[in-house]
Amino acid sequence: MGKQELKWMAWELTSQCNMACVHCRSSSEAESPVGAFSASNAEKLLDDIALIAKPVVVLSGGEPLLRGDLFQIAAMGTSRGFRMAMATNGLLVDDEVCRKIKDAGINIISMSLDADNPNVHDNFRGQPGAFEAVMKAAGLFQKHDIKFIINSSFTRRNQSRITQTYQLSKKIGAIAWYMFLIVPTGRAEGIMDELISKEDYEDILEWHYRMEREEGEILVRPTCAPQYYRIWNSKSKSEGLDAKRRALSFSTGGGKGCIAGQSILFINSMGEVYPCSYFPISAGNVFKQSIGEIWESSELFRDLRDFKRYGGKCGKSRYIGVCGGCRARSYAVQGDYLAEEPFCSYIPEAYSFSIDF
Ligand code: SF4
Ligand code: SF4
Repeated sequence: MGKQELKWMAWELTSQCNMACVHCRSSSEAESPVGAFSASNAEKLLDDIALIAKPVVVLSGGEPLLRGDLFQIAAMGTSRGFRMAMATNGLLVDDEVCRKIKDAGINIISMSLDADNPNVHDNFRGQPGAFEAVMKAAGLFQKHDIKFIINSSFTRRNQSRITQTYQLSKKIGAIAWYMFLIVPTGRAEGIMDELISKEDYEDILEWHYRMEREEGEILVRPTCAPQYYRIWNSKSKSEGLDAKRRALSFSTGGGKGCIAGQSILFINSMGEVYPCSYFPISAGNVFKQSIGEIWESSELFRDLRDFKRYGGKCGKSRYIGVCGGCRARSYAVQGDYLAEEPFCSYIPEAYSFSIDF
């Protein structure tokens, strides 16, 4: 196995949040602890990361704007040459926050918008006024010339609003729209029944393929739907179209569907390192081991990089190198992160052959 480059990381600077979204990965709320990263601990981690890579660093939470020293930490990352980004729910954004975002060198913001109307979005987010907060923040980001991305999460509850949410994201000035079909983890475990069916999942990804082919203004990408890479490649081929896609310099590196532990990682507020934000198994803790040591030699990361170890349909799939299946979903549904992706309709030729005989 060759050396893997860390290209993108999300860092939960606090688990405190001013919302209580039903599908939140970290089950954050107002009483959650800030976590273990004092400004000096944060600086030490940034120094350690600089020894192995220069990734995009997404400051997240909880709600990172609840931290008084957020912009100090962001500036530390900027001064070390990292491309800094921040994820916010928008509630605390005002003119002063916008000025601080720019001063600290944060280049891009991501916000969540899960419907095109306040009723569905606020219900999903467990917070009246959440929709208006995103609209207001989007206006402020445009006024201050701050780029932002919209992430939209869907379950059965709001899947009928997908097209309209994409259109609204464009209208409010997002430079990219990322559609995310919920992975059951954290608080989302309780909404297993709300997960979009496997059949609808495939239809939605096919809709996205058509939309992406026609979309020339903003960047669009289904997040953590690795089988989209299978759909994109096979449809492009059958339609005789170029399979190359546009990329955003702040995206996770592209090239492959699931890149958990391969070119991305997530660090929670206690220093635990995970393959991605939705993967509940820790690869180590930065207060016990260096991030370089965890990245290069943790057993979990090594497993995820070794496609020969993947099981079921994924193990026999010709798309394993471009897709790989969502390892967090395999773990959530089957208890084994190397098992086949449970939300993929594709049946590899080699697999049907081995079942028939
Ligand atoms: S395991 Fe991969 S596809 Fe699944 S949520 Fe994590 S990064 Fe996304
Ligand atoms: S079988 Fe696995 S690797 Fe193949 S397309 Fe489906 S999820 Fe991806």
